[in-house]
Amino acid sequence: MPELPEVTVISEDVRALAAGKKVVRAEIFRDDVSNVGVEEFPRRLVGRTLRGTGRRGKITTLDFGDVVGVVHLVISGRVLRLPEWRKPDKIHTAVVEFEGGVVLAFTKLWLGYFDLYEPERVEEHPLISRLGPDPFSEDFSPEYLRDVFRRKAAIKGLLLDQSVVAGLGNIYVDEVLFAAGVHPTRKANTLNSVEIKAVYSATRDILGRAIEARGTTFDSYHDAFGESGKFQHQLKVFTHAGEPCPACGTEIKKLRVAGRGTHVCPACQPL
Ligand SMILES: [Zn+2]
Repeated sequence: MPELPEVTVISEDVRALAAGKKVVRAEIFRDDVSNVGVEEFPRRLVGRTLRGTGRRGKITTLDFGDVVGVVHLVISGRVLRLPEWRKPDKIHTAVVEFEGGVVLAFTKLWLGYFDLYEPERVEEHPLISRLGPDPFSEDFSPEYLRDVFRRKAAIKGLLLDQSVVAGLGNIYVDEVLFAAGVHPTRKANTLNSVEIKAVYSATRDILGRAIEARGTTFDSYHDAFGESGKFQHQLKVFTHAGEPCPACGTEIKKLRVAGRGTHVCPACQPL
């Protein structure tokens, strides 16, 4: 699933390609791709101009003035520029053509969605209403983390919880906890203030560098130009189970935490 860096790149690409342009055609593959359904989707979008794009957690928002597109790309979802209009199908589940021949396909959305909301109701969207602070916002601070880490829950599970921090997923949580020297199964309330500060700094640092590298590409994430991200080359533990830790040489282990495959250096992240 695209996490904060990948969604940031997608959002910026869509803005670069289509901001200021009017929608001339828009269709979805079937009713469950959008809250408004197949009939209403083009009626709401055609003739409107894309004013800008944004990101809320792992969700891309498209500002069409009176209408906001709320796009959630789930596993292997991407936005792709197509050479010309094509009807949506089960892969390209939403296709939007802007003036000037810019055609964007939102792929594999049947696991996600392309909802249309009135601007004043976006905050009510079920995934947006529960989002915690964005890692790059002022609300995200060591003090905030100290508060939410009062719980006894495993630190990894807490960081994956979108109502605690918006935008982190499995890849970046593993990298953040490695950089901070914190074992993923540690109870959050056992972290001392140095460790809390380290989690805070590593979150901003790693996400920032991942955005600069245009995200992480495994099997399927690509940007709107079909290009791969480059951050996978900077990953220290994720996907590196069985290899030596880049910091100390100890073998990186893979375990299951919060139901997710989790990568850890037992020496750098002691329990
Ligand atoms: Zn190590």
